[in-house]
Amino acid sequence: MIKVGLDVAKIREDFPILKRKVNGHNLVYLDNAATSQTPRQVIDVIVDYYQRLNANIHRGVHTLSQEATDAYEQARIKIQKHFNIAKNHEVILTSGTTHSINIVANGFTSLLQKGDELLVSAMEHHSNIVPWQMLCERTGAVLKVIPMNNEGDLVMGEYHKLLSHNTKLVFCNHVSNALGTINPIKEIIEAAHQKGAAVLIDGAQAAPHIKADLQSLDVDFYTISAHKVCGPTGIGMLYGKESWLNKLPPYQGGGEMIAEVTFEKTTYADLPHKFEAGTPNICGGITFGAALDYMNAIGFEEIAAYEHELLHYATSELLKIEGLKIYGTAKNKTSVISFNIEGIHPYDMGTILDKLGIAVRTGHHCAQPIMDFYKIPGTVRASFCFYNTQEEVDVLVTAVKRAKNMLL
Ligand SMILES: *Cc1c(COP(=O)(O)O)cnc(C)c1O
Repeated sequence: MIKVGLDVAKIREDFPILKRKVNGHNLVYLDNAATSQTPRQVIDVIVDYYQRLNANIHRGVHTLSQEATDAYEQARIKIQKHFNIAKNHEVILTSGTTHSINIVANGFTSLLQKGDELLVSAMEHHSNIVPWQMLCERTGAVLKVIPMNNEGDLVMGEYHKLLSHNTKLVFCNHVSNALGTINPIKEIIEAAHQKGAAVLIDGAQAAPHIKADLQSLDVDFYTISAHKVCGPTGIGMLYGKESWLNKLPPYQGGGEMIAEVTFEKTTYADLPHKFEAGTPNICGGITFGAALDYMNAIGFEEIAAYEHELLHYATSELLKIEGLKIYGTAKNKTSVISFNIEGIHPYDMGTILDKLGIAVRTGHHCAQPIMDFYKIPGTVRASFCFYNTQEEVDVLVTAVKRAKNMLL
């Protein structure tokens, strides 16, 4: 039985979508690792923005423009405080994790040489693999893989062996979206720094569960997407140490990112604007700040403790089903369960669960190398948020049993 540390019934009242019916059943939303749902408090900020504040920022002298600019810059400071970032101009607002990683990968083009080495973990999301492969093609740098084991933990001994003075960059997720593994990023960062390599941590999957202290981690780059922390899509953060952000060239050219433009020569704006070309997602930025406020009001320790109990309960109930195998059994993991039942394709399982109102993700979860490692086409992934309940876990388990009987 789960000891409820959160008032989950009250929290659920904040999420209008959780009252929806899907295929005649109450929605059971267990695809939180793909995107989280949005509370009324955050939706209200979106409505308020368009009803009261809508204007372009950083340009106008008029009142609306100044108020919108203030709200946007306030949001930047909320994000800065949330992640304990030293300077607010180290917070670059992007369209999300994918955009953030591409800014860094593009920026390193002129800093790498043939034969330089980049280390990537075996359990990355495609967005933390492909931009680096493209960087290697441009520069002749070599990508090497930090292996993982059957439990879904990185083999740290191998990581330490791979590191050398040729290593220029290491990138790894804080939490794996496909397996839930919480990676030992402090150790990864420290060891890389000893060899003079920079580290980018993809925090997209960690952010809903863990409040990372970026100064104490001493990480060089950290990325997140607001839509996984109860915020909207199309907005996210690139954190970069000031010294690195000054070294990297801008990613896109346009308005907002310049100091002076002539046809002979253009000079770039200071941080953070150098990386924020064009009119940004103003409403998204403001709402991102509101989403962090919402989650902080609940409390990240409370969230983690409750989700841990949900994970524990769901794991033990699912494992009672014969033939069910869970992929990703690391000791340190967040509330993600990737599983298959012997003889059943994950897509068939997902389709039946959907008919019963249950939203799970099926497939390779944008992490195909992990599926290749386990020699499977994909998994069914149930990922839990703080608004999920023990009753919903029971609904899932009953439905998986029913689907199994139908499909085998
Ligand atoms: C969701 C996710 C991404 C991609 O985020 P986008 O919002 O699609 O840019 C990258 N890495 C991890 C670990 C994720 O969970």
